[in-house]
Amino acid sequence: ENQTYSLFSSTDVEEVTFFADLILPIPVPRLFTYRVPRGMAEVLKIGARVIVPFGKNNGRVLTAVVARLHNSPPTAYQARYISEVLDEYPFVTGYQLELFRWMAEYYMCCIGDVMNVALPSGLKISSQSKVQFNPDFDYPELLTEFEATLLTELKKQSALSYEELGRLAGAGSNVPALIKSLVGKKAVIVFEEVKEKYIPKMVRKVRLHRNYEEREQLLVLLNRLEKLPKQQEVVMRYLSHVPMQRNPELNQKGLDKTILNQDDELSQSSLTTLIKNQVFEAFEIIQPRFSDNLAPQAEIRLTDSQRSASQQIMAQFESQNIVLLHGITGSGKTEVYIDLIQQALSGGSQVLYLLPEIALTTQIVVRLQRVFGDKMGIYHSKFSDNERVEVWKGVVSGQYQFVVGVRSAVFLPFDNLGLIIVDEEHETSYKQHDPAPRYHARDVAIMLAHWQQAKVLLGSATPSLETYYQAKHGRYGLVELFQRFGDATLPTITLVNTQQEKKQKSMKSEFSSALLNALEMNMARKEQSILFQNRRGYSPYMQCEDCDWTAECPNCAVSLTYHQRDAELRCHYCGHKDAVPRICPTCGSTKVKTIGFGTEKLEDQLQIFFPQSRVLRMDLDTTRAKNAYQQIIQEFEGGQVDILVGTQMITKGLDFDNVSLVGIFDADRLIHFPDFRATERAFQMITQVSGRAGRRAGRHGTVLIQTSNPQQPILQKVIENDYKGLYEEEIQERQNFSYPPFVRLIKLTVRHADKAISHRAAERLAAELTDALGSSRVLGPEEPLVERIRNQFLFDILVKIERDKVNVKAVKTYIQDRINDILTDKGLRQVSIVADVDCL
Ligand code: ADP
Ligand code: ZN
Ligand code: ZN
Repeated sequence: ENQTYSLFSSTDVEEVTFFADLILPIPVPRLFTYRVPRGMAEVLKIGARVIVPFGKNNGRVLTAVVARLHNSPPTAYQARYISEVLDEYPFVTGYQLELFRWMAEYYMCCIGDVMNVALPSGLKISSQSKVQFNPDFDYPELLTEFEATLLTELKKQSALSYEELGRLAGAGSNVPALIKSLVGKKAVIVFEEVKEKYIPKMVRKVRLHRNYEEREQLLVLLNRLEKLPKQQEVVMRYLSHVPMQRNPELNQKGLDKTILNQDDELSQSSLTTLIKNQVFEAFEIIQPRFSDNLAPQAEIRLTDSQRSASQQIMAQFESQNIVLLHGITGSGKTEVYIDLIQQALSGGSQVLYLLPEIALTTQIVVRLQRVFGDKMGIYHSKFSDNERVEVWKGVVSGQYQFVVGVRSAVFLPFDNLGLIIVDEEHETSYKQHDPAPRYHARDVAIMLAHWQQAKVLLGSATPSLETYYQAKHGRYGLVELFQRFGDATLPTITLVNTQQEKKQKSMKSEFSSALLNALEMNMARKEQSILFQNRRGYSPYMQCEDCDWTAECPNCAVSLTYHQRDAELRCHYCGHKDAVPRICPTCGSTKVKTIGFGTEKLEDQLQIFFPQSRVLRMDLDTTRAKNAYQQIIQEFEGGQVDILVGTQMITKGLDFDNVSLVGIFDADRLIHFPDFRATERAFQMITQVSGRAGRRAGRHGTVLIQTSNPQQPILQKVIENDYKGLYEEEIQERQNFSYPPFVRLIKLTVRHADKAISHRAAERLAAELTDALGSSRVLGPEEPLVERIRNQFLFDILVKIERDKVNVKAVKTYIQDRINDILTDKGLRQVSIVADVDCL
């Protein structure tokens, strides 16, 4: 140790050089050691954000997070200096650091990847962050000559990024240090600008000090202020806006400061004095964005079965950390959640409520907002960075004790969670596919709760087999809610045999006569219908009748989907677009036909069959704009729309009064998808979309499922709402063939532009893994369903790890080592290998 010191500080042996191990937002699987400049050491805390130079000639600027402080210099490289500290407190909490580490290890990715996804970009300064000349600058004498030249340049531009400024300053210059100096001399605005851009709009408020919330104390105060009429007037004005006699709690919400001091200077200085004398208390809150003055919810009365469910959950939480609420669609799970959330909040702890992406943009949030008002933060992926930063800060400040959000909300800086709810826990959208970390928000939530001693409630009408298995075996609690709210009943599900209708020639294009009749009758009754087809676009194939040519993506091994509205062919994997051919490009025939159908075609045909009807479509193509979901849902809710056509987006959490018919197309394709989870998925999807029908008492729902084979057992189970039957059968299969929940799956995807190289790398990896783990644990390499994407040839290897018999951590390390071997093999240059742990 002593030796190393003298190496690095030979001029001053007394001086201890501090080092910090930093998490950098880059995909490199390690921490980076930087030097802590003198003077910074006292303020630097683990969890603080710092700015550091990075890359060749310090050409990049990165925001890093301090993971460790120590005094041993790195041996492999000369440590560079940290340029700037952004926080004097642990910005990233201890829990978050623990989460980052756990996720990197568990999901086999780099801690920098985790940090990068976790922190909204508004909280990170990067090479792209802007620097601006300060128009109020008037100390030119402080500048060095070099700085003065730079500033002249900067003045000419409205703003420059760190990167651009670095180029201007010349190679090797320490840009953050330079900017720090310029900021110190008030010559440029940078962090200020970043702050201004991202800082939430704050409302400055005042309230009476708690001491004066009691009537007697208040009277004493007013008496005391007799001699200070101006101050008394300010207090009186406050009371006229905040009627504390009637509702003492109103004081805690306070009053906008501007209301009290809007007229004259005298009242302003009086208010200032009152604050100084602790009569008033000044505080700030984030300007609420979302509570558009929704009428507060009248007290909800839980039904007996809901109350009982809530009580059972609380009782099970005594001995279980995780409870599954298995409640059928329309049973009012949300009301049960609200009850539990209120209990947790009143106990003083934080609550996180996770929802799948689409459900979050809809009615549930409005319902929650009515109850929780601006105490509730909303975290959504369609939010701007600004909005995310707001929620982040709201959690830190305590304004948001309760956050409802999508999967990335698990990264918020909670430190006192009491309850996490994972609604629709079976939803696959909780799993992030790309980029790393490829995490499952439900499983991460369980870890978070574990660290913070919080409880987890998983809710679903169609639980994932994994979760139900845990519940059946006593590892999770289980509470059932099998009654729809308010005497509503589950819909009647009927199978429509399309094979038979085809023989009878009663199919009209994709529509059976049964479905067309039902739609017609439903419209006559002025009731609404939902049609589900899990495929967007007009049709998935274009083919020449004469030579069998099909339109394919030049970059991927898939056919191009025909989109009629935009008159083009599109690849759903890489986004490639082509014009629609009028004649066959190979044989010149004019008989180029579309085959198969998507939501767009259904929408189109409905207009032909029912020209008077109003049809809306909800799929990826119609919901790209930020508020598109809401608009479609509001319009449908408004009642002017007869039919809503959509992909799996319409299966999630929607709750309409007037929907009494649901039509499901192409059930066969859902069931026969080549994946071991297909049956489970099909059951979940069909049950969930069926559950949108007949959610109100007196409006019984009907579901028609079009299939060419009504005898399929899974369809019988859907009809009978027999989740348990489905579970028993599926779990047996999973056990027989060693699939989750009996094993963990890690999917390794090898890719390369050269198929032979990709194959060679995959073969080698599979062979090495088979050697070590045995052939029963390694499947593949195998070409995936789409074996080429963006001109990369893919091979999948599936590793199965038994839950108890194997040291999972050791296996992961072994796999990672083998991957690293291949990645550094010169013969296999540019191979990429992605590990997906618990792949779905
Ligand atoms: P789930 O999530 O279980 O499918 P929801 O929570 O959406 O069901 O409830 C279905 C409908 O019934 C919603 O419109 C909800 O407002 C209503 N509802 C459920 N429970 C109650 C209750 N106790 N009081 C009033 N309305 C309720
Ligand atoms: Zn042809
Ligand atoms: Zn493509």
